Amino acid sequence: MKQVISILGATGSIGDSTLDIVRRHRDQYEVFALAGNRQWQKLIELCTEFRPQYVVVMDEDVAVTLKQGLQAASCATQVLLGQQGLCEVASASEVTMVMAAIVGAAGLPSALAAAKAGKTILLANKETLVVSGQLFMDTVREHGARVLPVDSEHNAVFQVLPHELTQHGRPITQDLADFGINEIILTASGGPFWQRDVATMQDITPQQAVKHPNWSMGQKISVDSASMMNKGLELIEARWLFNAKPQQLTAVIHPQSVIHSMVRYRDGSVLAQLGTPDMRTPIAYCMGEPERIDSGVKPLDFTTLSQLTFAEPDLERFPCLKLAMQVLASGGDAPCVLNAANEVAVAAFLQQQIGFTDIARVVEQVLAEANTQISHNIDDLLAKDAWARIAAQQQVLRV
Ligand code: NAD
Ligand code: MG
Repeated sequence: MKQVISILGATGSIGDSTLDIVRRHRDQYEVFALAGNRQWQKLIELCTEFRPQYVVVMDEDVAVTLKQGLQAASCATQVLLGQQGLCEVASASEVTMVMAAIVGAAGLPSALAAAKAGKTILLANKETLVVSGQLFMDTVREHGARVLPVDSEHNAVFQVLPHELTQHGRPITQDLADFGINEIILTASGGPFWQRDVATMQDITPQQAVKHPNWSMGQKISVDSASMMNKGLELIEARWLFNAKPQQLTAVIHPQSVIHSMVRYRDGSVLAQLGTPDMRTPIAYCMGEPERIDSGVKPLDFTTLSQLTFAEPDLERFPCLKLAMQVLASGGDAPCVLNAANEVAVAAFLQQQIGFTDIARVVEQVLAEANTQISHNIDDLLAKDAWARIAAQQQVLRV
């Protein structure tokens, strides 16, 4: 039976890799919908190639241009608009799989809609779990949905956890310790600056920050990798995906990005997943699960690997990681506030309004001002997110 897939964030880096896998297995996957933000030209090309029923964009003006372009290309794909459009294609009855690959908290409502509709969610959008981990996982459980982690570290952990625990993406409710698991170790490349002189960190330009040594990714996640906020967000993501306690989670720098993460068992065994750093591997894993399908990824050549090295992350160098670890421990709405403030700060850094080291300052200040008492519904959570964005904007003007 063909899988019918909606790809949210289809014009991004994860979108590109997902569509590459679809191209390799056209007989197994049918694209139901593609969603993007403003890249209408790319969407016309993709619609002409994949002939989805729907395409979603966020703005009216983009939708108008897109409609005209599709008509001119004799493509019958219908255009839907905004969050409502995203939620429709994430929950449509025809759809079996949703690739959630929008960047930022903007991806949350559609991921929740997919969960409510009981879909298999291929989750790249880690911000969904950072902002609303409890709420999202509860929704997944209540509606019989499945979550397969696309993030390479979490995908690695998912692959080396006992199958009776992961159950093809059904939420984990058991205690990890009952399965002999002592620790989940997320590897981090350390980004481009893990050895740079701390005194010069303020001078880092957006161009330098988005140049990741091992992975090719969107701008926001690339900056997060450079500040190691990404690893902090991933620790929070792991907490929810694997029902892990904060003390069961650690991060270690491994600059070669060959080991994608590890699980340490009680008997001394450490199980790891290795591979060439290419997101098509975790994406193909999620799309094929429980089968293994071709991904086009270059096989890992052990004879050319000269070394695998490891280092402890320096929390003074990477204050964003420190803040995220504090937030992981404190819980409540603190992760939601951290995420929103970080999104605003990263955007301001990319627009050269603030320096690289100001990102952590903005986030820290917003956290200090925030009411982080836990919200129990999505509206309250989105209100908290909105508050944090305004508070962060004010901080941006102050630094
Ligand atoms: P990207 O910037 O390349 O692509 C983002 C996609 O989201 C684009 O299609 C864009 O049009 C869309 N988008 C942006 N803002 C939007 C909005 N407000 N509403 C609707 N759509 C919007 O980002 P990416 O690197 O593909 O990352 C996507 C997600 O996957 C992020 O959450 C990221 O953390 C996660 N992720 C990415 C990688 C990677 O290797 N790129 C690895 C792990 C996790
Ligand atoms: Mg990752």
